[in-house]
Amino acid sequence: MKSYNSLKAYKEKRNFKQTAEPSGDEKITAREKNQFVIQLHDASNKHFDLRLQINDVLVSWAVPKGPSTDPTEKRLAIRTEDHPLAYANFEGVIPEDEYGAGSVMIWDRGQFRNLRQEKEEDTKDMKASLQDGKIEVWLEGSKLQGGYVLIRTSTNEDEKWLLKKMEDDKADARRNPVSTENRSVQSGKTISEIKKAAEDA
Ligand code: MN
Repeated sequence: MKSYNSLKAYKEKRNFKQTAEPSGDEKITAREKNQFVIQLHDASNKHFDLRLQINDVLVSWAVPKGPSTDPTEKRLAIRTEDHPLAYANFEGVIPEDEYGAGSVMIWDRGQFRNLRQEKEEDTKDMKASLQDGKIEVWLEGSKLQGGYVLIRTSTNEDEKWLLKKMEDDKADARRNPVSTENRSVQSGKTISEIKKAAEDA
């Protein structure tokens, strides 16, 4: 299993003279807790990046098909390097030849609750849940709400997880927000409008 839990891998992959992404050295002023963000990343392969705040980093997964609101759908989620908290506000274009080159849109954002910790018989905090390979969170986003579970299925170099909607009153098999709700919750722009704005600048 990868043990990131620091921004070392994040920093090593990037040249902050070239990319406008947060350097990871930002001062944490407002100590917000339990933030999550889902970014649409139009890189060499278009995918969604799910990030959950655990302590002072955003623990991250690339979700090729994005999250579903249908509890019968399992979505592959590949763990990637931890990202700095400031990344939750990053939207823009990573230049060509840089790591992750392409456009990034803030598709959804909000806070989450740790459902495992709320269960009396199971007091796992987020870090323990991550180590366990089982995370249960209640999302309060603009697009996504309700319970989601992440289960680790392999601990190889490519740490693979599955992301699934839980059965609750926010589950809805008819919605398909990754294709029908395609605007940023921050700017209202689509991913192509973000790309165009950067080209015109
Ligand atoms: Mn990505």
